[in-house]
Amino acid sequence: MHMTQPALDLVIAALERIREKSDRAPCASRTALARLQAAPVAASRREACTSPTERRLQTRNKADLLAAVRERVRTCTKCAHLACSRTQTVFGVGNPDADLMFIGEAPGADEDQQGEPFVGRAGQLLTRILKAMNFAREDVYIANILKCRPDMPAGSFGNRPPTPTEMQTCRPYLVEQINIIQPNVLVALGAVAVEGLLGTRATMRELRGRWHTYNSIPLMITYHPAYLLRNQAPSEKRKVWEDMLQVLERLERPISDRQRNYFL
Ligand code: SF4
Repeated sequence: MHMTQPALDLVIAALERIREKSDRAPCASRTALARLQAAPVAASRREACTSPTERRLQTRNKADLLAAVRERVRTCTKCAHLACSRTQTVFGVGNPDADLMFIGEAPGADEDQQGEPFVGRAGQLLTRILKAMNFAREDVYIANILKCRPDMPAGSFGNRPPTPTEMQTCRPYLVEQINIIQPNVLVALGAVAVEGLLGTRATMRELRGRWHTYNSIPLMITYHPAYLLRNQAPSEKRKVWEDMLQVLERLERPISDRQRNYFL
């Protein structure tokens, strides 16, 4: 039995409500869990959608499903300390029916203020990378593992990485986003995003530049744009661009000679 995506979303939403309103966590048999785990795999295969009308309906349906998750995130207080310190939650932005989805770690100060992921200096670099790939920000979907800015001690500046517990607590929202959007390719930006998504701790040297999978979706791992801002070496920038060329190939996008020779 394969559950359809809307049905799976309803089940997850119902379990979330039970967990939030009851002292007892919902229980499920091993068989039920195995079936739930199998569902996103089935759902991640995009149905062939031939007409523009079908595609528009699919996009609207996904936008509605995402809006429902966004509303739950907006009022989420699962991490009480972050719910107190945030200006607002930062859900995600972009095309609900995107072929390509980027995953970062957590909102920084700029994102916390503006309510949109990747709007600071690192975000501007990501936008430039997308442009070089012939994408606009609106074409892809961008989200973080954590939807709230990790809190900082009073009077201190900068950002801290999210803790494993914070990532584990917030991860179900990202899983829902991925299950709704069903991108053809995922890109994880940095080792923290990889840890949040896959639970794998490894160095970027071990992780980047080759294909991984998340629930049968091809996953490319590359450096976070903030790393490129700290390390301006052309060799590091070229590595990221080569990862993006692999992404374009996987998406079967045309690649010009200019793009092949491009350096970020
Ligand atoms: S980080 Fe995620 S789980 Fe924690 S309060 Fe924010 S939205 Fe909720």
